[in-house]
Amino acid sequence: MPRPHRVLGLVGLMVAFLLLGLLSYRVSEHYGIEDMREKASHQLDILGAAIDSEVTRHASIPSAVELNPDVVSLLRAPSEEQDIRQVEANRFLQKLNDHLGGPAIFVLDTSGTVVASSDWIFSDNLLGSDLSYMPFFRDAVRGTPARHYAVDHVRHEPGYYFALPIRDEAREWAIIGVAVVKSGIREVERRWLAQEAPALIVDRNGVVLLASPPEWRYATLGPQPLDALERLGRQQFAGQPLGAISLDINLDGADEGRIVRLPKHLRDDVAPSQGARPYLAMARHLSGAAWRIVVFSDLRPVGIQAATHAALSIAALGCLLLGVLYTRQRRRLARGREEARAMLERANQELELKVEARTADLSDAVAGLQREVQERQRAEQTLRAAQAELVQAAKLAVLGQMVTGITHELSQPLGAIRTLAANAAEFMRRADLVTAEKNLAIVEQLTEQMGHIIGPLKTFARKSPAVSTAVDVAQAVDSALFLFESRLKKESVVLERRIAADACIAWCDRNRLQQVLVNLIGNALDAMHDEPVRRLSFSSERASSGKVALAVVDSGCGFSEEAVAHLFEPFFTTKQPGEGLGLGLTISRDILRDFGGDLMAGPAPGGGARFVVLLPPLPSDHRETLP
Ligand code: ADP
Repeated sequence: MPRPHRVLGLVGLMVAFLLLGLLSYRVSEHYGIEDMREKASHQLDILGAAIDSEVTRHASIPSAVELNPDVVSLLRAPSEEQDIRQVEANRFLQKLNDHLGGPAIFVLDTSGTVVASSDWIFSDNLLGSDLSYMPFFRDAVRGTPARHYAVDHVRHEPGYYFALPIRDEAREWAIIGVAVVKSGIREVERRWLAQEAPALIVDRNGVVLLASPPEWRYATLGPQPLDALERLGRQQFAGQPLGAISLDINLDGADEGRIVRLPKHLRDDVAPSQGARPYLAMARHLSGAAWRIVVFSDLRPVGIQAATHAALSIAALGCLLLGVLYTRQRRRLARGREEARAMLERANQELELKVEARTADLSDAVAGLQREVQERQRAEQTLRAAQAELVQAAKLAVLGQMVTGITHELSQPLGAIRTLAANAAEFMRRADLVTAEKNLAIVEQLTEQMGHIIGPLKTFARKSPAVSTAVDVAQAVDSALFLFESRLKKESVVLERRIAADACIAWCDRNRLQQVLVNLIGNALDAMHDEPVRRLSFSSERASSGKVALAVVDSGCGFSEEAVAHLFEPFFTTKQPGEGLGLGLTISRDILRDFGGDLMAGPAPGGGARFVVLLPPLPSDHRETLP
């Protein structure tokens, strides 16, 4: 997703969370308040009924007082008879009061003075007290029955007063006094203070008559003019200061429930609004008394519950979203896995195809290589055959060169044999068998000698496959020299042999080594042909590589620069046509390399040529095969 879209989506999501939280909060709060309202209404029903019955149970008593003849007589009596009448009336009122269990019943004359009272026997009785200032008197003396809360001046006891005008039938129902009953409100107080939640009883002037908490008693709901409060306090509350605290509560519409703020603490030094908390105020007018009762329900639990519901719904939405995201992610992953699997399969197939193609290529290449190897093997065989032929040709060439010498060597014994054979025949004819036998013995010796001459030639000329064995280097040198015996003698060649003891045995083919040596000796003799001094030396030693190094040094003409560069090339020769093929050194080196040796050439210190024949040493596991 592009970045701006993602940011927008995130903002949208946050707004959705916020709206949902707000909605949940509002709904939960609404139902919480509704629930609270119902509970408060129920509480008000119970409280209202209890207070009403408690306060108004004495409401009918003033009528009984009004009808009492003692009371009427008292009020009718001239002043000199009043004392006597008063006693009667007092007794009646006392009896009635004792019967009802009320706090006080008394009668006022039209001037507002108490003329009879149920408490007449007590020293602090109300008799003679002027209660004309009391609002109930003023209403009743004008003919209106009155009822209200008030605190009396004498005992400073709060109570609920019912007042009824007393009319004289004989004076055309003129008002002659006022009958008053005071209901105690202790039971109401007790009940009220037991309230857990804040609750008030407010009179029609907006003065709090009873309150929980108790310190709110005599507070006003709102600010009121001081003089009015002072007057009210004087008339109704026995001079009690009113409105020291203003609760600042507006109860308009509180009959249906209204949200107000109540002070958390109420002390003189703390303003009521400070630390105010929201409450649901429910008010109810009492039908009996002119009071309003108000109960307050703390809205904090509703707020906490609403916040919890909001958090829960946000969490639920979060979970839902997470669930959706999780499912989507799982699907995406599954899709990704599926794609990866398909890709892998494709790659696998491609790889298999490639491998097949490569294998086919490789098989072709292998087949090609096999063909090539076979061709090379064939070529090698051909080469070896050609080489063998060349070796043979070279040998024959050497033999050809040696023919003169050999013929010379053989002609002498042959002549002797012919003569001896002829003599032997003659001696046998003469029956001289002893001499004939001697002659034949000499013939035998001579043929043996000739056999010695021809033997190496036979070996040399034989076409034999190369087989490595332990070869005595000195013997090989001797065998090769033997083939040149007559030439060496004829050309007065000085021979030197220095074969070291630790370098006398090599691991090679005797016949081939002999062939190499014949070749080198032949070349050396050729090179020394025109030299006044002819010296040919053989020396062997162990090279640093462990091989046997046999040096063949002559005192011949040595090599020209050109010769040094091309010595081992086939068909390089400085000899006259018919004298050399230029193959000797090439073949010699190949032969030596074939069985792990080598051939090197260089100038000899005193002029002449120096060839070094490197031969492999005897392998350690063939020491016992020493000749
Ligand atoms: P060929 O003997 O048939 O010429 P080689 O391969 O044996 O063939 O020798 C090649 C050439 O190397 C010779 O023609 C000669 O010039 C040179 N050569 C070989 N041995 C010697 C030597 N001992 N002294 C001087 N030159 C030599």
